Amino acid sequence: MVKIPFDNSYAALPETFYSRVSPSPVSAPKLVALNTDLAVELGLNPDELTSPAGVAVLSGSAAPDGATPLAQAYAGHQFGGFSPQLGDGRAMLLGEVVDQSGIRQDIQLKGSGRTPYSRGGDGRAWLGPVLREYVVSEAMHAMGINTTRALSAVTTGDSVMRETPLPGAVLCRVATSHIRVGTFQYFAARQDLASLKALTDYTIARHYPDAVGPDGPMGLFSAAVTAQANLIARWMGVGFIHGVMNTDNTHVGGITIDYGPCAFMDSYHPARLYSSIDRRGRYAYGNQPEIIVWNLAQLATSLIPLMGDDPDASVKAATDVLHSFSAQYKTAWLAEFRAKLGLKQAKDGDEALIMDLLERMAGQNADFTNTFRALAGDKARDQFTDPTVFDDWNTRWQIRLADEGTTQNEQRRLIRSTSPAVIPRNHRVEEMIEAAVAGDYGPFQRLNAALANPFEDIKEFEDLKRPPTSDEEVTETFCGT
Ligand code: AMP
Ligand code: MG
Repeated sequence: MVKIPFDNSYAALPETFYSRVSPSPVSAPKLVALNTDLAVELGLNPDELTSPAGVAVLSGSAAPDGATPLAQAYAGHQFGGFSPQLGDGRAMLLGEVVDQSGIRQDIQLKGSGRTPYSRGGDGRAWLGPVLREYVVSEAMHAMGINTTRALSAVTTGDSVMRETPLPGAVLCRVATSHIRVGTFQYFAARQDLASLKALTDYTIARHYPDAVGPDGPMGLFSAAVTAQANLIARWMGVGFIHGVMNTDNTHVGGITIDYGPCAFMDSYHPARLYSSIDRRGRYAYGNQPEIIVWNLAQLATSLIPLMGDDPDASVKAATDVLHSFSAQYKTAWLAEFRAKLGLKQAKDGDEALIMDLLERMAGQNADFTNTFRALAGDKARDQFTDPTVFDDWNTRWQIRLADEGTTQNEQRRLIRSTSPAVIPRNHRVEEMIEAAVAGDYGPFQRLNAALANPFEDIKEFEDLKRPPTSDEEVTETFCGT
C-alpha cells in the first residue's frame, strides 16, 4: 500500500481546466532514484515509495488512493507564435499534498503516457531528459533558486521511439503549482471569463494571498512581475539558460519550470545559446530579461478583461506595472552580482564595475562559474586568455572593496555563498546520460551528490569543476522530449 495524504484542489476547479486521465501501465517499472529528503518533506513514506506498489505509482502504472489524475489544459506562445491548445501532453497531475511547511505541492508524473493534449506525441519521455531534469532542477533548488523539484525517476522497461529506440522513463515532479502564463492565455483566448476568473482566484489563493480583494487581477499580475524579476536575476547570476522560455513554460508563481534544452554556460558570452531548436537565439542568455517581459505582457493581456470596466485604464495601469519590471530586475540583478563581487553596500558605479568585468570576460574564454568563484581567491586572472585583461579591472575592484568596511574573509565568504563551485555542466550531464543509458547510474548519483552542496569546495568532486576541453564541449542541447 502507498498512502499519499492527498488534498486535491485543482480537480475541484471547473471541467474546462483539465481532462481526467487514467494511469497507463508500463512493462517493468524500476526505480532509478528517489529523493528521500523531499519525500519526507511531503509527508510521504520513502519505504512505501520504494516498494513495488510505490514504484507502480511513480511509473504511472497505478493511481494511489485519493489521486484524481488529470492533464491540465493550457495554451502558449511558442517562439512568439500562439498555440491556443497545448496542455499536458505527456504529464499527469496525481493530486496535491500539503507539505511539512504547510505549502500545497503538486505531485505530477512526466512521461506517463498519452492524454487528450498529446496531439501527435506519444506522451512518453526517455531516460535522458528525465535524468537531466532531475539533476538540474535539484541543483537549482540547492542553489536557492525557486524551481520545480524531482521526487523520483523510474525506468519503464519500454522503449520510446525517437531517432532511435531509447529507454522510457517517468519523472515525478513536485511543484507549488503548474500554473503557467499559458494557462491564463488558454481561457482568455476562448473568452471564457468565468474560467479565467476562477483561475485568477485560485492562483491568488495559492501563490499571492496578499492580492485577495477587488484589485486581485492587478495584484496577481504585479506579484508575478516581481517574482519573475527576482527569478531571472538568479538565473543570470548562476549562468543558467532556460532554453525554451515560451509562455507555456513560464510559471505564474515565479518558479523555474520545464527543463528542456536548458544549460549552464561554460565560457561567458551574453549571446550564449545551446538549444538546438532556437535557431535565431530568441532565448539566449542575455535575452532572458527581455523575453520575460514579453511573456508577462501576455499575462497582462489575458487578465485585462478582469481588471475593471474601463479597458483603456486597465491597459495603462498594467503597462505601468510591466514597466516597473526593469527597475525591479535591475535592483535584483545588482544585488546578485554585487554579492558575487563580495560587495554588501550599494554604490553608484557598481553597475559599471560589474558590466566591465562581464565585458572583459566575453571573448576571453573566461569560464562564467570559475571566474566568479575565483574572485574569492587569487587566481581569477588565470581564467582569462590574456590575464592582463583582468588586471586593470582588478585595480578598480580592489579600490571599491576597500570602501566596504568588511574584512577580506567576509568578502570572500559572500562571494562563495553566491557563486557556486559546481554546476551541472553540459558535458557532465551528457556523460551522465550516456552512462545511464548503458546501465551505469554511478555518474548520475555522483552528480547529484556534488550538486547537493554547490557552494562548497569538496575535494572528492574537484574534477566536476573543470570546464570542458574543446573536445568535450557540448555546444548544442536538445529538447526535453
Ligand atoms: P515543452 O515546451 O517541451 O514543455 O512542450 C510543449 C508541448 O508539447 C506541451 O504541451 C507538451 O505536453 C507537449 N509534448 C512534448 N513532448 C510530448 C510527447 N512526447 N508527447 C505528447 N506531448 C508532448
Ligand atoms: Mg512545457
